[in-house]
Amino acid sequence: GSGRAHLQVEGLSAGYGAFLVLRELTLEVRPGLTVVLGPNGAGKTTLLKALNGLIRRGGGVLLDGVDLPETTHQVVQAGVALVPEGRQLFPQMSVTENLELGAWLASRAERARRLEQAFADFPKLRERAQQLAGTMSGGEQQMVAVARAMMSAPRLLMLDEPSLGLAPRMVDELLAIVRRIADAGTTVLMVEQNVKKALAVADRGYVMERGTLVASGPAKLLARSSVIREAYLGAG
Ligand code: ATP
Repeated sequence: GSGRAHLQVEGLSAGYGAFLVLRELTLEVRPGLTVVLGPNGAGKTTLLKALNGLIRRGGGVLLDGVDLPETTHQVVQAGVALVPEGRQLFPQMSVTENLELGAWLASRAERARRLEQAFADFPKLRERAQQLAGTMSGGEQQMVAVARAMMSAPRLLMLDEPSLGLAPRMVDELLAIVRRIADAGTTVLMVEQNVKKALAVADRGYVMERGTLVASGPAKLLARSSVIREAYLGAG
C-alpha cells in the first residue's frame, strides 16, 4: 500500500432483503487504526460487508475522494482488503498457497515479490510455508488470514473480530501486528469485541448499537467515556 488512505462514509444504509440493519451511518476512517465496537448484532459485520461489496448498500462511500465501487472484485482493485470473521482460509491448502490467493490480481512476478514481503513481515509463516492451513493453531491461522489480505497490497485493510477465540497472548501479538500495519502506512478499520485491548492500540473508535453510532472519538478518550466504561468495561 502507498499513500495514506482516507475513507468517508456518508448516510450508509445496508441490510438483508427488506431487513435494514444500518441506517444512515456517517463515519470516517482516517490514516491510522480505527476500531468499531459494539454488542453482538449491532451491525459491525454488516458495515464491513457493505463496504466490501458483499451486500448491497445505499449512501456514499469515498476512498480518497473517489466513489468506492460496489462489487467485491472492484473493491479489491480499488485497494481495500477484508479479513473476514472466522478467517475463511482454505484448510487443505498450504500457507504459501493461501497467501498467493490474496494476490490473484497481481502478475506472477509481483505475486512472488509480495510473498517474500509477507514472509519478511510474518517470519513465523515462513517456517510454516508448506504446512496445511487447516492444521495450524487459531492464532497462526489468523496470522495467515491477515498476511493473505496484505498480499493484495491494500491501502485500506478491514478486519472483522481478528482476536475471536484466541488466547490472551495471541490476542496481544495479533493486535501488535495490526498496529504495525497501520504504522507502516496502510489505513486500518477493525471490528473488535475485545474493547479494552482494541482501544489500547487504536487511534480512534466508534461505538455502534442497533445499526447506529452512539459514540466516537480518540481511542484514549473513548476508553474513559461513560458509554464504554458502563457498557463494556464494568466500571461506573
Ligand atoms: P456479531 O458481533 O454478533 O457478529 P455484529 O455487530 O457484527 O454482531 P451483524 O453480524 O452485522 O452484527 O448483524 C446485524 C444484524 O443483521 C443482526 O440482527 C443479524 O441477525 C442480522 N443479519 C446478519 N447477517 C444476516 C443475514 N445473512 N441475513 C439476515 N440477517 C442477517
